[in-house]
Amino acid sequence: MTKIYNFSAGPAVLDQSVLVATAQAAKEFNNHGMSLMEMSHRSAPVMDMVAETESLARDLLNIPDGYQLLFLQGGASLQFAMIPMNLLGEGQTADYTDTGAWSSKAIKEVQLFGNVNVACSSKESVYNHIPKDLNQSDDAIYLHVTSNNTIYGTQWHAFPKPVNSNGFLAADMSSDIFSRPIDVSQFGLIYAGAQKNMGPAGVTLVIIRDDILGKVNRPIPTMMNYQTHIDKRSMFNTPPVMSIYTVNRTLHWLKENGGIEAMAEKNKRKAEKLYAEIERNPLFASPISKEDQSLMNVPFIFANGGDESDFLSFCDGRGLKTLKGHRSVGGFRASIYNAMPEAGVDALIQAMQEYKNQ
Ligand SMILES: *Cc1c(COP(=O)(O)O)cnc(C)c1O
Repeated sequence: MTKIYNFSAGPAVLDQSVLVATAQAAKEFNNHGMSLMEMSHRSAPVMDMVAETESLARDLLNIPDGYQLLFLQGGASLQFAMIPMNLLGEGQTADYTDTGAWSSKAIKEVQLFGNVNVACSSKESVYNHIPKDLNQSDDAIYLHVTSNNTIYGTQWHAFPKPVNSNGFLAADMSSDIFSRPIDVSQFGLIYAGAQKNMGPAGVTLVIIRDDILGKVNRPIPTMMNYQTHIDKRSMFNTPPVMSIYTVNRTLHWLKENGGIEAMAEKNKRKAEKLYAEIERNPLFASPISKEDQSLMNVPFIFANGGDESDFLSFCDGRGLKTLKGHRSVGGFRASIYNAMPEAGVDALIQAMQEYKNQ
């Protein structure tokens, strides 16, 4: 059978060892005679597993003291609303950078709770770059960025600083968390849905600095209040234990393979060779400005037109799956998250070369 490489943008590829461990836990968890799905989230083995997942994440990301780490539900999309609901008072302003579809969705939610200033936007050029000039508000409570734009394939390689010295930086890292070292102390809040680079859908990681909490007076529904989940250590209600377990195995796998530094090196190698082929091969081109190209999602197009479905089925026949670009941009997109082996990228490059030569 042809080896399959899944280039999906999300839900995305997971390491085989992670899938095997998850399948085992679905049958029987660590010799407890029951599936993990059947076990109480208040039982010691499950509480220990969730606590271990937290400490693995803290360790890998080098999270300093003074930050809470939560496992929540509702995806990154619920964070679009929870952030302003919890952290932005009525009449206060937050600055948002508009660098893609997910940023736009985040911007839409803020308006329900306070004022939003769009500090920059690359919408006019179909989000093909990260704007360098930001028009920030002096009194913004926070500045929001989408660290990696999954659909358009741009990435902040360095993060902007809030001009308000009392403000903080908030980041949607759904599609590049754990892919490169970050300095968590640069941020007040980081959030990420799991299903791109960390695990399956169903759990969302939120990292939040203590001092930004408790400053807003509006009533907040219990489930949407960060404080609820902090007080109950992500166990206020039944957490998505299976999803958290898959994250746990992914973080173990990451650690065993040298942690984030080693992964970042591999990710850089994978992306560099793929972009080099896009540049070298006369059939293909990158629609993204070079300095902002994402190391995680690599969109490419036919340089001079062509039959997209023909190339997709050519790839499909070689086991290279889910390479269609997002419906809003067309073309192709190779998502090469942590769990995409270098051999998968090599196979794609080979297919691009053979397609040109046929
Ligand atoms: C996928 C994605 C989201 C949406 O995540 P959900 O967990 O489905 O809500 C938000 N932001 C970014 C950057 C994404 O890639």
